[in-house]
Amino acid sequence: MWTSTLELSSRRVIPTRLLGVVWPGAYFASFAPLQVQNLPRQTLPATNWVRVRNRLAGISGSDLGLIYSAGDFRIALAALPRHQLSYPGHEVVGEVIQVGDDVQYLHVGDRVVLQSGPNCVSTGAQPLCRSCAIGNYNLCERGSSLSGPEPIGGGWSEEMLLHEQQLFRIPPAMSDEQAVLLEPSAVAVHAVLRRLPQPGENVLIIGAGTIGLLTLQVVRALVPQAIVSVMARYAYQIEQATRMGAAHILYPQDSYQSVARATGAQLYTGMFGNKMLIGGYDVIYDTVGSQQTIHDSIRWTRAGGTVVIVGISLHTMRIDPTPIWYQEIDLTGTFSHGMETWPIGTYLQRNHVRRPSKSCSITPCYPPLWYPTSEQQHVNAAPSRLQQPGLKSTGMIKKSQHGPHHLMSISFRLPSLRRQSRSR
Ligand SMILES: [Zn+2]
Repeated sequence: MWTSTLELSSRRVIPTRLLGVVWPGAYFASFAPLQVQNLPRQTLPATNWVRVRNRLAGISGSDLGLIYSAGDFRIALAALPRHQLSYPGHEVVGEVIQVGDDVQYLHVGDRVVLQSGPNCVSTGAQPLCRSCAIGNYNLCERGSSLSGPEPIGGGWSEEMLLHEQQLFRIPPAMSDEQAVLLEPSAVAVHAVLRRLPQPGENVLIIGAGTIGLLTLQVVRALVPQAIVSVMARYAYQIEQATRMGAAHILYPQDSYQSVARATGAQLYTGMFGNKMLIGGYDVIYDTVGSQQTIHDSIRWTRAGGTVVIVGISLHTMRIDPTPIWYQEIDLTGTFSHGMETWPIGTYLQRNHVRRPSKSCSITPCYPPLWYPTSEQQHVNAAPSRLQQPGLKSTGMIKKSQHGPHHLMSISFRLPSLRRQSRSR
């Protein structure tokens, strides 16, 4: 079975990064962290594991960051052993082709999406850690101390071998193209639920890539009375954000003045171009997460407001933290997704849920893109083991032929990756 691996060891990262400065092909050379190789087909390592043949996978921004060795060895994550070798591709939809004798919830032929990596439940660790006990498997506290067989393969592989707990079954009505976007949709839901805006509040989403636009749709779906600004860089992002209901578009080159205009904040300018706002956004979702956007975010937030860091950076940063204490700003972050409880009394609980029609699934008809699934679909989408409090975030996505290049371009059919790897 062919599979992609990502080895973030110094012997691969350092030469790749050095040569990559003058030769972009270094990131795909034989010494690079990203490798594609043929492995012997392995048997299921345990009786409650399944074999999944992948159908469609996406490339996320975090995947690209790892491929291009954009990280810093000094960040905290670099000290964790489990991050040094991984199988890339977490946005993936596949089909179960083999089940172990003790698998309870999945069957051959089920289409599934990937939930998260090994955790207490998938490895049988007892008692469950605090995070796993409430369904936040991405925050499993056992981390690298988990024992038991390791998953084999990721989304960028021909097959994946996983514990059944690591997969969600998806309903037949959901296309592969919709399903492959469940993971980033869940990331967006998780981010918004970290600090749900209130009706009438001013919200800023920094970045209008896949996560940024999905975050916009989640805010619009949950709190349509919120006034949402989006900071976008490219024309197609501006077009999509506007169609999806952004009230204001901010441009990076005019950002402080734009924030002041959009929120009524007072702009002050000190020496050396130093700028600060009094007033500003109630909530900012930073889907870029760079040093610059975090620097700006905490200056653009009103006193008592919240900044949610959604975008992932693998760098150490030099940040001026003074607005955090001077304005008593809550600075928080998100990682992946978790077990969510749909907020009681939000817009979609008071109104019937809308669904995209099948005829619109690949058509130019576009906003609003994001629809929470009905309760029944939640049940269908998740294995019955999820009869626990809360619901896993799921969503249905419509795509446009002419629309979001960011959405269309992130997905690739797996056989094409195989051809690319062989042609190297
Ligand atoms: Zn755990």
